[in-house]
Amino acid sequence: MLTETTALAPEGGGTVGASARAVTAPPGSRAIPSALSSGARSLLLNASMEPLCIVSLRRAVLLVMSGKATVLETDGRVLHSEHAAVPLPVVLCLTRYVHVPVRKPVPPTRRTVLQRDSHRCAYCGGGADTVDHVHPRSRGGRHEWSNVVAACVRCNHRKADRLLHEIGWELTFTPRAPRWSVTFGSSAVRAEPLWAAYVRT
Ligand SMILES: [Zn+2]
Repeated sequence: MLTETTALAPEGGGTVGASARAVTAPPGSRAIPSALSSGARSLLLNASMEPLCIVSLRRAVLLVMSGKATVLETDGRVLHSEHAAVPLPVVLCLTRYVHVPVRKPVPPTRRTVLQRDSHRCAYCGGGADTVDHVHPRSRGGRHEWSNVVAACVRCNHRKADRLLHEIGWELTFTPRAPRWSVTFGSSAVRAEPLWAAYVRT
């Protein structure tokens, strides 16, 4: 695969955009062009195999065709260009390491906390729509990852501004900041199981 795809690298450092025009679909195939514009996404890893970001399938194909990345996981479909066939990448890896500035920690917001906790109430395990401060803010609790959990409306109301030991509740896990950007969190992995081996959640 690697030799086929790197053979497509534009001579003299052509741009990724230029190689886009070389992408053609095999006659009679509608599935692949629609996949390219369907919002399908690929997981892009650095050359160190560390997850970098999620890119559109179209961008992923262009990275492979320009020799800037190689395909690690594919869904089995193949895109044919004039000179070679490129497996549609589900996971791809840059051929050269790029230095990435230190990631800013993701702040705990309603969206990111619900995502970290997979929309499960930390107290009853039911579906959660709200965020609860384990140590209530009204009693000095801080708004930080270690003090916020997803909670259902019912549990949130029942707990109110009390401490867990005051009502005999306890957490079954220790809340922590997600190790990666929540972009790579459990919900992303559920959406694309082939990413799971490359992403720690
Ligand atoms: Zn609940």
